[in-house]
Amino acid sequence: MIKKGVRTNKANSLRLKELWKNPEYRKEQITRLTKVNSLRFKKLWEDPEYRKKQSENHKGSKNYWFGIKMSEERKNKIRIKKQGKRSSPSTEFKKGHIPFAKLHPERMLRGSEHHRWTGGCSTYQNKQALIRDNYTCQICGMRDIEIMEVDHIKPKSKFPELRLDLNNLMTLCPNCHRRKTNREKKPILNGTTPTQ
Ligand SMILES: [Zn+2]
Repeated sequence: MIKKGVRTNKANSLRLKELWKNPEYRKEQITRLTKVNSLRFKKLWEDPEYRKKQSENHKGSKNYWFGIKMSEERKNKIRIKKQGKRSSPSTEFKKGHIPFAKLHPERMLRGSEHHRWTGGCSTYQNKQALIRDNYTCQICGMRDIEIMEVDHIKPKSKFPELRLDLNNLMTLCPNCHRRKTNREKKPILNGTTPTQ
């Protein structure tokens, strides 16, 4: 037994190691720690300033695996190792489980508030253009929510830096869009000049 007051660091660590072997003690400790941590983060997360700070700190950061290329040998090794294995039975998807994002959609950070926001890709900008033009064709005035397309006023093949610029996008119906791109491709054959 260890005497009181003589407990050194080494003895303490040894004691903890032996205690850790006991599964009941381990379970107790883990539940206690997770409770404390979850309460702490819940309190922090309610503060809007903290949330803003976090999202700004992580802006532009990328996924860990982004840009990493694995050799075929390594891939095969992982493939063989993973066959018939359940990686995490306690946390894997269960039937009937409702994901957090569906339960609390108001607590999810979307769009420019998300920590991986990089300025909006083409689908986002196209949607913005459609909403701005109220889904109406800018040439013939037809309005349809389902079939409207987004056109680049200055073609993106010649001006790739303008492809995400909202001022360079406009809503067109499929007919007008096809006509415009055709004229841009071969202006001499059609006997007309490009519109822009
Ligand atoms: Zn049209």
